[in-house]
Amino acid sequence: MSAEDMTIDPDYLDVNKTFPITYEVKEEGTNVRIHANLDLSEVTNPRFKKNLLDHLALSIGEEGQALQRETFDGEGNTYFASMVVPRDTLRDHGLKLTVNHVPVNSYIWQNKGLQPVVYNQHLRMTVSETRMLGRAMTEEQLQRIPYPRDFAPHFNEMRKPVTDLHTHLSSQIPGADLVEMSARHDAVYPLELLEEMGIDASGLATYPIKSFRFDPAIYTGVAKNCELDPEDPSQDKSKLVGVKIRDLKKKQPADYKTFIRNMSIPVDQIFGPGDFDTKFYRFRNPLEKNPELARDKIMQVAENYKAEGIKYAELSTGAMLSPEWLREAIPAIEEAEAKTGVKLRLLVGIPRSKSPDAVSRDIENMKFVAQCPYIVGVDFLGFESNKTEDFTAAIYNIARWAQRLRNNRVDSDEYGRYTDDFVIRVHAGENDKNIGNVGAAIDIADRFKVRLRVGHAAYARLTDESTAKAKKNGVMMEFIPDSNIALRNIRFIEDIKMPRWLEKGVKFVLGSDGSGGYQTSADQLARAGIACGLSIQDLGQMQGWENDLIATQDRVFEDKKGAFDHSYKKFDDFVDAYDKHRNYVRSMELPERFEGKTPILIAGASGSRWEQIEPEHQFEVSIATRMMTKLLDPDKVYFCTGRVKNRGVEKELDNAIDSHNAKHWRDENHFDMIATVSTDQGPVSIANGVTWVNRSRGDTNNVVSAVTRFMQEHGGGYSLFVGGAAFTREFIHQAADSHAYEDRTPLPFGMMTGDVGTNGERTGPKGAANSEADVVDPKHHIKAGRSVTLAESTLRHMRDTLRESGQDVFRQGVDLSDDALRNLYKETKREVAREIEDAAREMQGWTSRSGSGRGGEAAR
Ligand SMILES: [Zn+2]
Repeated sequence: MSAEDMTIDPDYLDVNKTFPITYEVKEEGTNVRIHANLDLSEVTNPRFKKNLLDHLALSIGEEGQALQRETFDGEGNTYFASMVVPRDTLRDHGLKLTVNHVPVNSYIWQNKGLQPVVYNQHLRMTVSETRMLGRAMTEEQLQRIPYPRDFAPHFNEMRKPVTDLHTHLSSQIPGADLVEMSARHDAVYPLELLEEMGIDASGLATYPIKSFRFDPAIYTGVAKNCELDPEDPSQDKSKLVGVKIRDLKKKQPADYKTFIRNMSIPVDQIFGPGDFDTKFYRFRNPLEKNPELARDKIMQVAENYKAEGIKYAELSTGAMLSPEWLREAIPAIEEAEAKTGVKLRLLVGIPRSKSPDAVSRDIENMKFVAQCPYIVGVDFLGFESNKTEDFTAAIYNIARWAQRLRNNRVDSDEYGRYTDDFVIRVHAGENDKNIGNVGAAIDIADRFKVRLRVGHAAYARLTDESTAKAKKNGVMMEFIPDSNIALRNIRFIEDIKMPRWLEKGVKFVLGSDGSGGYQTSADQLARAGIACGLSIQDLGQMQGWENDLIATQDRVFEDKKGAFDHSYKKFDDFVDAYDKHRNYVRSMELPERFEGKTPILIAGASGSRWEQIEPEHQFEVSIATRMMTKLLDPDKVYFCTGRVKNRGVEKELDNAIDSHNAKHWRDENHFDMIATVSTDQGPVSIANGVTWVNRSRGDTNNVVSAVTRFMQEHGGGYSLFVGGAAFTREFIHQAADSHAYEDRTPLPFGMMTGDVGTNGERTGPKGAANSEADVVDPKHHIKAGRSVTLAESTLRHMRDTLRESGQDVFRQGVDLSDDALRNLYKETKREVAREIEDAAREMQGWTSRSGSGRGGEAAR
């Protein structure tokens, strides 16, 4: 190419190459004429265009020239600047395209003409910078974009992420790759959704398709026919049609481009959580759920990572729990690793917004699939509208199980044999709605000594106590800056306090959240780290942590692989076994570990009803529940509750179990707990100790009948009622009346009633259990007396009632005499008092902690 008249290869304004710019250069004597053409036809956001053009300049030295609109291209999407400058000036200063005086393209004049500087590509705008530019509404905001480019000459020495620990399979593949792949597979796409994108494909041949369940659409009632539940036969899906993506590509190329564009979040746009679901994820859904693409998708993900320099990634997906998916995906991962060297591992994605019932079933399935060495952890994901505490029970359940695995105490028949470090990842601190979520997650890691990673952590209370706990327990933060910008969770990249976490010694990595969907990359994430205030050395340190993690994972993998190959001769054997297990989990009433055991139900006052109960009575309830954990045998009983509120009888029981289980962390002396919740309830908080959830059809009123029925079907057990209101009253009467139904046996139960005092009122804890005493057979009454406390009396009643019904529930060899109970009472009373004191001290020392009043913490 001659220097007289040259066109430089198209450059781009942005890293993602969405906005091309070409430079034409012509020498005229001692002058050089430069003409730059910027193509903005891919702009989807008018504010981006305006903000960009107001701050963009073609500059030589101090001279800058704004770009003007080209009027003759018809579309009005081309902008240009022309300059004639002395060659010497160009040689001395070079040519720059700048936004707010920060170069985003840079050229120097060399012997042969105009050449891009070697680090030119690191000057281009990152996806977060273009999105921030598209969002900025004030000049002050605009002046902060883009970030300085001081790092650019050193970029090649800089360490970039070599892992992607936070990504979701459903948003990992770039839109173009996903669509091309679908065309290759002759995939059919719902016409309905094309219409939604503004594409009229009605002229193309149509083919019948099946529906692809899309949860957000179903919840909001806007479900198109193609998004109905494929497993629900009552919905008519016979008229569903789609068009071949291949036909769209061939016959409507412009629409095909639009189609691809809809598979990612545009680089100049910010999506709220709603847009994310209804635009981005919704449009991808039929392709993401297409089982025919599973294999190719995994190969493509590995290829792309290899090109990016990523060596190890953990993909989170809910698809994991489908046997069909596993059958396709795992061999593909193996193949991809052999071909590319990239290690892909999987996290079982459990949406945090699911009902406790659905979550408990997912967890049972997860425990089985986790035998597979490619499955390395679990991920609580989804929009963070609830508190970490709301699904604490689920995390505890997994943590307990993971801890047992670590102790290698799981028997081989149950879930395979291996010791490992199972990862629990919690999405927390993505938005500022529940600022305590990150701290609550760290507390869980501290409590259960599990390997925890926190996804996002853009919002967190960085208290010394919390960060010290995180450091001590090796909790790792995963910062996801480009997704946080894309979904409007943060305003600027530096809103994530990476340097502060570093200062506190907490390890972290940078994750993509789905590099295809968010249009980010390892390069761009490293630059986001720099924008956050990390140094080049800091990035090097981060890479050190990543390499350590890869080494650990390699070790875990070898262990698990050995055990897996020992248990299953062929991979298909494993999937077949899982398929059986899954049907079992779906249909069975209770997991095996509950079989043959006796249920102990405790119900009564919570919330404001609990507050009405005298403190000394509350104290007695607390002691009674502790005494139960000491006397009852976890191999013979399990506890039952309903929903659990912050304060109340059930919470006291939960605390007692928590405290007991914490002390017996390393042995098998653990109590199981079942919660019954209605199917109408969404995510609700259940007790921490809950390891299984029973489903009651219909609204909450049916829960009482469901629980009563459950007790009857499982041998009667023992029910204890304390205080309460309408709910507890119903419980008592159903238990007392149960003999009235022919097919039912009376339920053994006790109610704390107290005696009739001098004023004619009963002296027991206030509420339904007390006030109903007059109409319920006195054999169910539990009273304190001159020589017996309420807690002692409760245990005596339980002992006598269970003996009478012939149910064996107590630990081998425990002394149940009145005297022994008296001694145990005294001992337990001292313990509870001490725990309350400790908890109060802890609360004082750490005011930021939420006041759940858990005695169990202090008991450790
Ligand atoms: Zn995520």
